[in-house]
Amino acid sequence: MKTVSSLLDKKWYERYKKISNLNIRSSIYDVTNRCNLRCKGCFFFSSNEEKAAPEEMDIRKWEAFIDREKKRGVNLAILIGGEPTLCLDRVEAFYKHLPTFCATNGLIKISRDRFPDLMLGISLWGNEADEKLLRGKDTFSISSRNYEGDPNVYYLYTLTPMQIGKIDQIIGRIRDVDLKVHLQLLSNDEGIDGFNWKPEVLNDLRFEMDDVLDKFPDTVISSKYYHEIITTGKMLGRVFGWNECPSVTQPLDNRSPRPKRLIEFIRWASDLKTMHRCCTSETRDCFTCKDGAAHMSWVMVNKRAHIRTTKDLQNWIEIYEMFAKLYQFIPW
Ligand code: SF4
Ligand code: SF4
Repeated sequence: MKTVSSLLDKKWYERYKKISNLNIRSSIYDVTNRCNLRCKGCFFFSSNEEKAAPEEMDIRKWEAFIDREKKRGVNLAILIGGEPTLCLDRVEAFYKHLPTFCATNGLIKISRDRFPDLMLGISLWGNEADEKLLRGKDTFSISSRNYEGDPNVYYLYTLTPMQIGKIDQIIGRIRDVDLKVHLQLLSNDEGIDGFNWKPEVLNDLRFEMDDVLDKFPDTVISSKYYHEIITTGKMLGRVFGWNECPSVTQPLDNRSPRPKRLIEFIRWASDLKTMHRCCTSETRDCFTCKDGAAHMSWVMVNKRAHIRTTKDLQNWIEIYEMFAKLYQFIPW
């Protein structure tokens, strides 16, 4: 029988040991329904999730809720929105009580006195022209000034078909401000002309992603297996989609048979009562879903399927390490 130790040499087994006991239990929280941008293709606003529930305004209710989440076993709170930094008292309530990650557009600079090591993922949608087109603003010039050299910040760079051929220039700019970057793909929830993926473009993209990882190994937090999975939507011959997705809110998950999934995962709306279907857009057709975290998690929850060949298991380890770095479970 194939086992982990029979497939790995000493060096890889050590790497495996560092992640195998992490037992990450994440959930996602809409901190607010408001944002200081309105990006074309934002999954939150394009699916009207800001109208799903009114925001809870009482900070004491947030604190009590966070306490309940902690007791439920959550050990990673992923804060999204809207723009979480518009409500720093809520961000602080999470930060004080749970390991916390905060997604942000980076326009508001958080105080490192108040949040010394809070990990921030700053959204970036391309170069200056692309950002102006999609987000109405060149956010990089502001966010990079706010966070240059911050060891607990990385860019979450959303790749679009318009980025082909330009990715390395943008990553070079991120390297120059001494920050890291993780790559993800636009799902084009608002059907913007020219932003749908075609198989041949995805194929080119995969190899461009591989190239930038080779060229900027200290800046890009990624793995070639992740590039394969996210661009092909396939893992070990299986096809990503509703029947396989690990990131469905657990109490709403009535799939049968139930696939391998994140344990007790819930995505909460900002009233602290309403649950969203999954980690991303309520209304997205799963067939078009390119959500990076869902694809990473898909690999992570399917460890057993990767105990097949040495290469498969090493691929699994690299994706798990990538996730663990992005959420501060292990250092860069
Ligand atoms: S900054 Fe983020 S939350 Fe705000 S509109 Fe853009 S994608 Fe949506
Ligand atoms: S939209 Fe994506 S993340 Fe949501 S259930 Fe479908 S496949 Fe999963």
